[in-house]
Formats: sequence, C-alpha cells, structure tokens
Amino acid sequence: MGLRPNLLTRRAAGVASTTFALLLSTAAVGVVPAASAYSAAPDNTSCAEPANAHADARVRGGSKAAHKRHDPNELTAKQVQEREAEFAAALRNSALRSKSSYRTGSTEGVTVALAPITVPVVVHVIQRDSTRAGGNIPDSMINSQINVLNQAYSGATGGAATGFTFQLQKINRVTNTSWYPIVQGSPAERSMKTSLRTGGKNTLNIYLGELSDDLLGWATFPKRTLDVMDGVVVLGESLPNGTATNYNLGDTGTHEVGHWLNLYHTFQGGCSGSGDGVSDTPAEREPAFECPTGRDTCAAAGKDPITNFMDYTYDSCMYQFTPGQASRMVNAWTAYRASA
Ligand SMILES: [Zn+2]
Repeated sequence: MGLRPNLLTRRAAGVASTTFALLLSTAAVGVVPAASAYSAAPDNTSCAEPANAHADARVRGGSKAAHKRHDPNELTAKQVQEREAEFAAALRNSALRSKSSYRTGSTEGVTVALAPITVPVVVHVIQRDSTRAGGNIPDSMINSQINVLNQAYSGATGGAATGFTFQLQKINRVTNTSWYPIVQGSPAERSMKTSLRTGGKNTLNIYLGELSDDLLGWATFPKRTLDVMDGVVVLGESLPNGTATNYNLGDTGTHEVGHWLNLYHTFQGGCSGSGDGVSDTPAEREPAFECPTGRDTCAAAGKDPITNFMDYTYDSCMYQFTPGQASRMVNAWTAYRASA
C-alpha cells in the first residue's frame, strides 16, 4: 500500500483493510443515458451525450468485476475535445476581459501566479430523517471534510500547492424523503438543486446524502454560464470518520472538487492522445483501484499516477495533485468561476 506521507495526521479513525467489494449496479446506467452506450474503450466516441458532458461520477471499486466497470459519466474523446476547445476560448475571453497577458490559448502551460483563492462553501445535508442512517451526519464530519480539502489543495498531504482554500459558509440541513437517496441525473436531483443551490459561480455547493447505485459522488465541470446543477454531490459516509470503508478519509470530496475545478481523471484518454490535458500526470490505460503500487500500464514515461486524487484508488492511497493540475485549476477558475 502506498500510504500518503502524513496519513496518520489526517486519519481520524482506523481504516479497515478489508476489500470493499460493492459492485456498480447495472441500474446505475439506467439513470445516466450517456453510460448506456459505454464500451471498454476509454476513448470511445460512440456515446456523446451533451447533457452528461459536464458531470462525472466516482464509484466504489475494489472487486475484480468493478475493475471492468466504467464511471457512468466518463467523458469520450469527442467530449473532451469539445470541452478543451471551449476552455481555451473561455480563457482567451477572460484574458481579454481582465487585460491580463495569456501567452497562448493553452489551458495548462500558461504561467499563473498561484495567488490565494478562497472558495466559499455551502454544504447541504440531505436527510431522510434525523437518524445517522437516515443521512444525519454530524457537523464535526463536515468540518473535518473542509480540513481535508484545505490540506489536499494546499499541498500539505504531499502534492502541489494549488492556491485554493475552502471556507465553510453554511450547513443547510434538509429532510426530504423524495430527494433521498440522491439519484444521479434524476428529476429529483434537479428539483433538489433548483431549491437549494446558493451563491455565484464561485460558490461550491456540496450535497451530502445517501447516493444511488453505490456511487461515491459526482460533480459538474465548470461552464461559462451558471447552471443550477453546478456543484458536487458526495456520499455523506465518505466524509472523514464515515462508514464507507476504504473511502472514508474525505478524498471523494477532494476528487469531485477537482472535477468542479475542471480536472479530468488521470486515466482520461488511456495511453493515447492528450490524456487528461495535464503534462505531468503520466498516462494510464484505465482506472486504478485499491492501491496497485508500481503499476505501469502505458509505454509512455512514468508509472501510473495511482496516488493522484484524480484516480480511483482508495483514499489511503491518493494524496496529491501535480503542478500541472494546479495550473489547470487556477486557469479554470479564471476562465469560469472568478467573475460573477
Ligand atoms: Zn471522477
């Protein structure tokens, strides 16, 4: 196991070493149209579905069967190509707006000062009732989650300092059985977000609850126009001290916020093409589960980035973002979220 350097300081409770062998139910694809045409090819272009091009989901993995499953919202090569063109255009536009000097339309290589960026956070706790099993997780877990985000994004856990800090503004507790569990892509999810989402493009709305289909979470990628669906949905029990064995150190939150700041998975595109659009994350053929130290699935230089927050490994295995990812997130902030 490749334990993160400061695991002991981050870990609030012992983590069981047993394998969490929940499978992604086939029902998962039923609520996500884009997934219905999914094949094993990471760069499959046959299932472009614009409605799902801005979302991403993380699933609990660990069993051999789960290794063959895809994230229901994994992007196709075509979707990535379209998003990257849009990202470059948004960056150029924001540079014109601010009269700052972007040297190129590159979405990664631009030199950006990693000035502190404070992200206001609103947490919505979706509950079925007042019991813990009904979604009523304590404030202490939410505060711990914010700490995990701040450590991860500051580089304190071993990766690059990204410049982002997260400031909890409000915990909003909602008891509503029709929103519980939160079902990805459902009318109920839209209804929930329409009722609850607060703040501008810079405000991170996190929805916590029980999730459909063994999902750990999902997130929207940024857009130039604020969409009511914007935000991050996270399994409540994945927060630090939660019951989601192997996924209860809070890194589902870290991973999903990475998507919210425009990061792709490290396995995006597999071994070919531009991968995740970040040059310092070595290519990998497919998601890594558990903690396969030393794995190297592509001929290109570098071992698989299994310790990166944007892979699918256990929370105890992932502890870093790269400088390239930090730069990409800051550029995305400038392009999409910095201005009202
Ligand atoms: Zn993801």
